[in-house]
Amino acid sequence: MVKGKNFEVIIIGGSYAGLSAAMALGRSLRKVLVIDSGLPCNRQTPHSHNFLTQDGEKPAAIAAKARAEVLKYSTVQFLNGLAVSGEKNESGFLVATQDGAIFQTEKIIFATGIHDVMPDVLGFADCWGISVVHCPYCHGFELRDRKTGIMANGPRAVHLASLVNNLTKDITIFTMGNANFSAEELAKFDKHNIKIVETIISEIEHENGQLHHLVLNDGSRLDYDALYAAVPFNQHSDIPVALGCELTEQGYISIDNFYSTTVKGIYACGDNSGMMRSVGNAVYSGNFAGAMVNKELTDEQF
Ligand SMILES: Cc1cc2nc3c(=O)[nH]c(=O)nc-3n(C[C@H](O)[C@H](O)[C@H](O)COP(=O)(O)OP(=O)(O)OC[C@H]3O[C@@H](n4cnc5c(N)ncnc54)[C@H](O)[C@@H]3O)c2cc1C
Repeated sequence: MVKGKNFEVIIIGGSYAGLSAAMALGRSLRKVLVIDSGLPCNRQTPHSHNFLTQDGEKPAAIAAKARAEVLKYSTVQFLNGLAVSGEKNESGFLVATQDGAIFQTEKIIFATGIHDVMPDVLGFADCWGISVVHCPYCHGFELRDRKTGIMANGPRAVHLASLVNNLTKDITIFTMGNANFSAEELAKFDKHNIKIVETIISEIEHENGQLHHLVLNDGSRLDYDALYAAVPFNQHSDIPVALGCELTEQGYISIDNFYSTTVKGIYACGDNSGMMRSVGNAVYSGNFAGAMVNKELTDEQF
């Protein structure tokens, strides 16, 4: 049960970025409400890697520890729920939740993350974050020396292949259609024995998310252990755009160097506003955004 209706800051999204912003603000005695719908993008990954002090920890355990630390600051409250709309008014913004509550706030921080769009490949979603992964820094060490596919084309495939090449020497790029590479890129693949397959993957055969075979449209069934995939994404929440926040060409919330969006009083941090997708970056950017919102409030009140 949330106490009160008026806040200095409402943070929408209470995973790593949102909680980190809340900590900076709570430590400055700001009256904060964090609203979180409990669907972080990494929820299917058994273990999170590459974040100091939490390497190999379960994603939900990191978030639970963060939440407990943040809620020690008595001016911060946490609401399990979905924010469904935001509206500008003369005192700042009104934020409404799915269960009908309406809160007033001076500033908003969106830490809402992004939603990965699963391709139309049977079994893909079941393996996402387990043996089908997006990031060599997060999962590459655990998948080292395995028979590995990369489901991507063009510059994204080149980028992934160059990183994964240091982790395993058995790489095939699945372009899911006509390959789109320059002669120079093809020469590099050749030099590193990286194979290219243009036939579309129709199914991933797996056991509890652990990939065993890639089944192609032509009926072939190939032994593989791991697949990197570049998938499209949407903003997890449409409230920033409804409030007038501009998006970048790539679909991220447009922010300046101080995490301010294109709408005064609204900030964004974490995955929703930058392509460096990691727990470490979410924590960093949330901490920075929290400090910037505190500075804006301080400048207005001092
Ligand atoms: C499969 C997978 C595995 C990964 N593994 C790793 C790893 O091993 N190591 C690593 O460093 N990084 C990893 N990452 C990246 C890392 O998980 C993200 O960078 C990080 O979770 C981003 O944090 P965030 O707070 O910005 O967003 P998220 O963690 O996605 O959280 C966003 C939160 O906002 C909430 N929300 C959204 N809209 C609303 C709304 N309208 N109202 C209320 N709440 C809302 C969501 O429910 C969610 O809780 C992985 C990512 C994926 C997809």
